[in-house]
Amino acid sequence: MRVPVVDISECVDCEGCLELCPTVFRRNEVGYIDVISLSEYPEATVQEVINVCPTDCIAWEEI
Ligand code: SF4
Repeated sequence: MRVPVVDISECVDCEGCLELCPTVFRRNEVGYIDVISLSEYPEATVQEVINVCPTDCIAWEEI
C-alpha cells in the first residue's frame, strides 16, 4: 500500500495540501502538517497535492 509522507524539514506551511485534500492532510497538535492514518488514500488527489507542493516535500512511501 502506498502512503503519503511529509518531510517537515522542507515544508513551508503554504497550506496547499490542507486546502486541496483535508481528508488526508491535517495540522497536528504541535502545529506541523501531518498525514491522517487511513486504510487507503485517494491516489489521484494525493498525487495532485504532491504535484503542487511548492517544496516537493510530499512523497509516496510503500508500506
Ligand atoms: S503543500 Fe507542501 S509545503 Fe505546503 S503545507 Fe503542504 S506539505 Fe507543506
